[in-house]
Amino acid sequence: MLFKGGTVYTPEGARHADVLVADGVITRVEPGLEPSGRVVDARGLYVLPGGVDVHVHSRDPGFPEKEDFASLTEAAAAGGVTVVVDMPNTVPAVDSAGVLEAKAALARSKARVDFGLWGLIRSSSTAQDLEEMAAAGAVGFKAYLAYSFSLSRKQVLYSPGVDDPDLEAPADYGTLARLAPAVARLGLPLAIHAEDPTVLAAFQRPLLTYGDLLESRPPEAEAVALSAAAAVAREAGVHLHVAHLSSALGLQTAEDAMRVGTELTLETCPQFLLLSADDFDRVGSAMKMLPPIRTAADRAALVDGLRRGVISIVSTDHAPHTDEEKSRSFAEAPAGSPGVQTLYLSCLQLAKDMGDVWLAPRWVSEAPARLVGLEQSKGAIAPGYDADIALVDPKGTTTVAAHEMRSRQRHSVMAGRRFDFAIREVFLRGELVGATHGRMVRPALVFG
Ligand SMILES: [Zn+2]
Repeated sequence: MLFKGGTVYTPEGARHADVLVADGVITRVEPGLEPSGRVVDARGLYVLPGGVDVHVHSRDPGFPEKEDFASLTEAAAAGGVTVVVDMPNTVPAVDSAGVLEAKAALARSKARVDFGLWGLIRSSSTAQDLEEMAAAGAVGFKAYLAYSFSLSRKQVLYSPGVDDPDLEAPADYGTLARLAPAVARLGLPLAIHAEDPTVLAAFQRPLLTYGDLLESRPPEAEAVALSAAAAVAREAGVHLHVAHLSSALGLQTAEDAMRVGTELTLETCPQFLLLSADDFDRVGSAMKMLPPIRTAADRAALVDGLRRGVISIVSTDHAPHTDEEKSRSFAEAPAGSPGVQTLYLSCLQLAKDMGDVWLAPRWVSEAPARLVGLEQSKGAIAPGYDADIALVDPKGTTTVAAHEMRSRQRHSVMAGRRFDFAIREVFLRGELVGATHGRMVRPALVFG
């Protein structure tokens, strides 16, 4: 199989080349290759490595009315994303190897693109729990610093100030300090939801307006959590990954930590780069998410951090709730929105507007693949890599329409937005997506 005549994004930069694929793997990337089998005409198109979204919420198992692995991965495929890495706060939460293996089996039966799984760190987790999850294929571990755990429902919950014996206290900095050496030994990343619960408690209020939401989740919560976790990570020599960075203060705090040698990656999301609080009147409750989409100044700082390469990963925090739930009053609507289908287009547009469209595959594919240990198989168009390929038309346009979303939910914070690109065809291991099943991906350098 030969992708002929396109502009290929390779680890050495973009160039005109053909891409030869055998048995789902890229074998040669050179100009003037002669076909011996099927030819895909890529003239006029960008040949990009498929996206790797390291922050999605499949809701599966747990909330099939919101999303499942089938609808999630259909949305991903439609957006040029060929690997999704699912967060562990499904129900039951992924806090042991047994739960992880059951979730993997469920996902395998439904996934249209490849998938990886994060494991959960609870305040009661042990090093052995993490070792067993790593052996079962976890890409890394996530700690929700402000979210408790319902022992009866096996569910991660935001329930500040609730005194209930069913609720196990959130993982805290002590949990991180206790378990970070084990994570470091496994060679996997430690991801955090960076909001400090004591800061949130000090600003708790009824959420009647968008302003209330912003005041209830101040940037200090992000910065304090990030700073403390960075100190713990530095001491343990573990790789810290900050999910959904949302504020200028958080970015500045992370840069301070990097300057003193903390091994740290920053992930932000398209909604924090393309929208600000000023968009709320237009977009409405689809924009309700945590952490919140903040001020225009925060947005500008994050875009600048991305331009400077300090923020290396753009993933989505794809977090669907039903259209009905999201249409309730602002106070009642749950936080979170779908996003995986518009990830690549959003980033291509941002990168183009920055003057270098080829930054997009770095943010969306190369850097996230490296984070989750897939740097030898995903995230590049190069010999030996899986032929996960998005063909993108730089002369096409896409206007995002809610009804065209493939997620089970048909709302999008990007609805109505026009991008100067169109995704034409997407291939997973050399097959058109849909023609093959997704597989579970595992980090290359895992313990055991
Ligand atoms: Zn999330």
